[in-house]
Order: sequence, then C-alpha cells, then structure tokens
Amino acid sequence: MPQEWSNWSGSLRFTPDSIETPRDERHLAELVQRAAAAGRTVRVVGAGHSSSALVKTDDVLISLERFQGLVAHDSNTHRATLRTGMTLHEAGQKLLDVNLALHNLGDVDVQTVVGAVGTGTHGSGKRLQNLAAALVGARLVTGTGDIIERTIEDDPQFFCAARCSLGALGIFTEITLQLMPAYQLRRREWCTHVDDCLAHLNELIEQNRNFDFYWYPRSDEVKLRTLNIPGRERETLPYATVVEDETGWSGDVIPKTRELKFEEMEYALPAEAGPACLREIRERVKEKHRRTVGWRVLYRTVAPDDAYLSPAHARETVTISILQNNTLPYREYFNDIEPIFRAHGGRPHWGKLHSLRAEELRPLYPMWDAFLAARQQTDPTGTFLNRYLGELLGIVKPVVMT
Ligand SMILES: Cc1cc2nc3c(=O)[nH]c(=O)nc-3n(C[C@H](O)[C@H](O)[C@H](O)COP(=O)(O)OP(=O)(O)OC[C@H]3O[C@@H](n4cnc5c(N)ncnc54)[C@H](O)[C@@H]3O)c2cc1C
Repeated sequence: MPQEWSNWSGSLRFTPDSIETPRDERHLAELVQRAAAAGRTVRVVGAGHSSSALVKTDDVLISLERFQGLVAHDSNTHRATLRTGMTLHEAGQKLLDVNLALHNLGDVDVQTVVGAVGTGTHGSGKRLQNLAAALVGARLVTGTGDIIERTIEDDPQFFCAARCSLGALGIFTEITLQLMPAYQLRRREWCTHVDDCLAHLNELIEQNRNFDFYWYPRSDEVKLRTLNIPGRERETLPYATVVEDETGWSGDVIPKTRELKFEEMEYALPAEAGPACLREIRERVKEKHRRTVGWRVLYRTVAPDDAYLSPAHARETVTISILQNNTLPYREYFNDIEPIFRAHGGRPHWGKLHSLRAEELRPLYPMWDAFLAARQQTDPTGTFLNRYLGELLGIVKPVVMT
C-alpha cells in the first residue's frame, strides 16, 4: 500500500509507489535495474532535511538507512570510508573513536553525511570549504544499475561532479572522506548591536576559525558565534557580551539541536557583496516584514572550491539565510527577498527553497555543462531524473520503450 512521505519541515509531501530500504548493495542495484528497465524514476533520500523537491517521485523512493558503519580508516592519511546511511552525528561518533573528524559542520548534525555532501551543505568559516569538499572516494550504483568505484587520485574530474551532485549522478553506497585528526573548539556566543557587528565584520571573519552571526529582525540585536582552537582565540570583544562559553570536541560544539521547525531560503553570494546584500535585506524587512517575521537572518562565510555545482564554486562566499517558522506564512516574505539575493549574484542552496530553474542557474555556474556531461555518463537513461531535477538541470528524461 503506497505511503505518503514527508520531509522534516512538512513542506514537501508525496506518495511514491514504493519506499524501499535495500538490505545491501546488490539488492539496491537490482532495484535500480528493474526501475530503469521499466522507465521508472528512482530517487534516493537521506534524512529528508531538504525542502526543495530533490527527492520527490511517484515511482521508487530509496532510503539507505540499513547501510551503516565505518568500513575502513587510515590514521596516516586521515581518511575514512563510511556506509552512506549514516547521519553526520553517527559518523562523527564513529570517527571520534578513531581520532578523526570532519573539517567543519553546519548548524545541526541530523542529516546524512551523503545528503549533506549532495547539496553543498556548509558551516561557517572563511577558510573552511563545504562538507562536500571532503569527498575523495565513492562507490555508487549508476542509473543502469551498475556498481562503480572512483577515487580522487584516479579521476579528479569525477569528484568535481560528484560533490554537490543532488543525487543525480548515482546512489552512493560508500564514501571516502578526507578528514583531520579529532580537534576541540571553544565556542562562544556573544550579544551586541548590529551596527557594532557590521563595523567589525571583516576582523571577526578574519580572526576566528568559525564565525557567523544572526540578526533578529524585531530588534537590532545580533548574536555572534565564534569557534576557535582553545588558546588561539581573542579573550574579549569590547563591544559584545559573552552569553555562552563551552569547549569540547568539534562534533559536540558546532552543531546544536533545533526543536522548532522552520522554512528557509539561503543564497551564496560573492563575499564582497555580502554586506550590501544584508543591508538591503534589513531595509526591506524593516519596511515590510518586521511584524510578521521574528526569525533570524543568518550570515556565514564559506571558502571557495572546484565542485561544478557547489554554490561556493570558485569564489570566496558569504551565505545569507532567511527563516520563518514552518507554521507561519513564509512565501510572500521569501518571494520578496529572493530578487535581492539574485541582484547580488546569489546562487541558491540546493536543499532549501528557491524559485530558480535551468535558464537562470546555468549562467551562475561556469562548469554547468561539465556537470551535465558527467551526469549523462552515469545516468544515460535518466533513471534518477525526477521532474524537478529535469527542470532544474534543463534536461528531458529519455522515453524508455518497455
Ligand atoms: C534543521 C536544518 C538545519 C540545516 N542546517 C544547515 C546548515 O547549517 N548548512 C547548510 O548548508 N544546510 C543546512 N541545512 C540543509 C541540509 O543540510 C540539506 O538540505 C541536506 O542535504 C540534508 O541532508 P539529508 O540527509 O536530509 O538529505 P536529503 O534532504 O534527504 O537529500 C539531499 C540530496 O542528497 C541526495 N542523496 C541522499 N542520499 C544519497 C545517496 N546515498 N547517494 C546519492 N545522493 C544521495 C538526495 O537524492 C538529495 O538530492 C539544514 C536543514 C535543516 C532542516
């Protein structure tokens, strides 16, 4: 009996013909082969924390929740291979047992590692790339149901496509990550006035390993978050008051639990456009949305990388997110702010809400066609192409004669 599926926030709902949880790679490959032969669409879902319709399908939805555990690790190269059903939290615990850790994390750690890699999920830090940048090896089931394995040493171009691949290249069953020795961080949160934060923005970004801030639209208060290797941090900020101070393993202090559900739009901007874009958003929010929007506006930084579809592709990046409680109206607010992001050269977060399609996206990504060519190689029959991805990438799914 088909069951309705819903994402974390409840904004994406659909009823696939079947939801499959394959027991192993061979079973997964058979499911894909069968679907491909019948011209059906297969989408793979991680923890369902994306709001864009990446995983939507009327046909087969696959979860790799049974693909658990650390396959191997190497303490000399600081690499580890994981099965892809694992969340960032589960993977972080297993990696800590062998004294390894990811270079960064985002706000929460409940997503799967592979889902985070698939959409360019990032934390904050001028010198820290998104999580996908850690991907250096992969086993995957292609759109024809074949199992292939790649390493960055053998095929670096493949990884430019595989990082941030939106589940369009294939279903990863194991991924190898470039990690670092486990490390501790001191996390502090500070309250201050938005003008003080903006006056010191460059030094805050430069002087902290991880730095971001929230602006609360109903006031002019901001919350700054700084994370640094203990002993390498500035003791005080004369214009801000510390409201939280904790030190621990990176995986324990970077992510936090988010109980309240929300909707979010986030754009990645050229770093130099960040302050002006924020200024315009603040003016618009004060003018039109202050009474209806109490949720924070979040400002982060991300280092450039070479993944073809990474929102931080080849540019120093600032990301700005606007959020709204998922039980309150958000469309009017998001629709009003989106043109501001776009006017500043923004690229949307692949897992969050936005309205762009291929004709608007292609000019933002210089290696767009290289991604399409890689996708064509691993999924020539479009088994992983749902309607949304077809529109997003500007590709028509080939018709299969059954
Ligand atoms: C509360 C919350 C906090 C968040 N915080 C941040 C943040 O701090 N920074 C940030 O950048 N983003 C953040 N996000 C966005 C989130 O990280 C992304 O949407 C992420 O992709 C979700 O991971 P997931 O495991 O839920 O994957 P899903 O949403 O289930 O899937 C995402 C993509 O990965 C693909 N995929 C899943 N499994 C596989 C596989 N085995 N092989 C190939 N492709 C696969 C899917 O097909 C899909 O295209 C947040 C979202 C929420 C709801």
